[in-house]
Amino acid sequence: MSVSTLVVDQSVYSSLPVLGGDVTVPLVTGGEVTYAALDYAASAPALQRVWDDVAAYAPYYGSVHRGAGYLSQLSTDLFENARKTVAEFLDCRDDDQVVFTRSTTDSLNLLAAALPADCQVFVFETEHHASLLPWRDARVTYLDAPRTPQEAVASLEGALAGRDPRGPALVCVTGASNVTGEIWPVRELAAAAHAHGARIVLDAAQLAPHHPVSVRELDVDWVAFSGHKLYAPFGSGVLAGRADWLREADPYLAGGGASRKVTRRTDGGVDVEWHETAARHEAGSPNVIGAYSIASACKALTGTGFETLVAREQYLIDTVRAGLAEVPEVRVLSLFGDDAPRVGVISFVVEGWNSSHFAAALSAEYGIGVRDGLFCAHPLVRTLLGSDPQAQGECGAPEAGPGERSLNAIRVSFGAGT
Ligand code: PLP
Repeated sequence: MSVSTLVVDQSVYSSLPVLGGDVTVPLVTGGEVTYAALDYAASAPALQRVWDDVAAYAPYYGSVHRGAGYLSQLSTDLFENARKTVAEFLDCRDDDQVVFTRSTTDSLNLLAAALPADCQVFVFETEHHASLLPWRDARVTYLDAPRTPQEAVASLEGALAGRDPRGPALVCVTGASNVTGEIWPVRELAAAAHAHGARIVLDAAQLAPHHPVSVRELDVDWVAFSGHKLYAPFGSGVLAGRADWLREADPYLAGGGASRKVTRRTDGGVDVEWHETAARHEAGSPNVIGAYSIASACKALTGTGFETLVAREQYLIDTVRAGLAEVPEVRVLSLFGDDAPRVGVISFVVEGWNSSHFAAALSAEYGIGVRDGLFCAHPLVRTLLGSDPQAQGECGAPEAGPGERSLNAIRVSFGAGT
């Protein structure tokens, strides 16, 4: 096959300007080419607008919640306004909390640490490890990969029906798969969870950069996402949703900022009153630039309008999928089939090719950056590949030899800046 089949004519559709859009890279075949970043699902390039906003603010930043000076007040305002912008972006309920974290992984670990005692957790095996693994201290039920959205709902209903409804329970589900790009039936899963007295957290790491996410409409209890996938820099994320479990839990980190009052006891110990607001889980000096840049990205996305962004992305999805369909050796990985709504994340294997070599060739010979591996979703990719669950390997390894079944896959992903 010709790897050039994969090249998207980027001139047809340009959308929000991103940094690095004109970076050139050397090719092994000689010369240079403009780099095509097609690994948005891992980390999307920051929007130019976000970078400009950060640059404009950088000379003025000061400590948050800790100073009387002008710069400190300015930073505190920006930080708290960022919280409001994120709440609007997610269409949160009035009494929801927006906690700034380091990433989706951090957000879900925070929620895992805040689960009430004896909480049961239900999670599909298809999840990214960030949603699959944080619940180690809870009783977890892992659900098999469903083959249709309806099967997903039925499987969850079946599992929830078997639980003791008196105890707390949490369902964790992805909005869009980081492997297949398929959008999950979140509203229906939320309805099933609530019908059985469970709560639901949405891993929106892959959905939020591509589609509007409304906490109210989807009726989810929490949403988590990462700044670096939403066209903001690394190091910041969000957990937004119900305040009660977060307020009742011990602080995620103990320290300044999370504590309202600390006093020495007469017996020599220390008493602490923790904040009941989002600050409870934001101990230490917060990442104000991270929060500010997430808010800036949210504004840029809603300013452009998701309708426009979704239409552009659908064009790219259709183009790439049509190109891949013309190559008989290519098998696109999918749980829900061709008609499933999806975001711009497409994984595939190429018969006769080692996925790692294929991805390396795309980079070295064409300047196209994609991802190869199991995408931190080992059970899902192995199910899709039909490979032995005991097979080793993650990103890059292991490698199938000529004629052997591929043990990992290639992923192309794009978004608002592509
Ligand atoms: N959830 C999904 C669906 C993801 O794709 C990812 C990252 O690829 C994560 C969670 C974890 O995000 P982060 O690495 O920013 O914590």
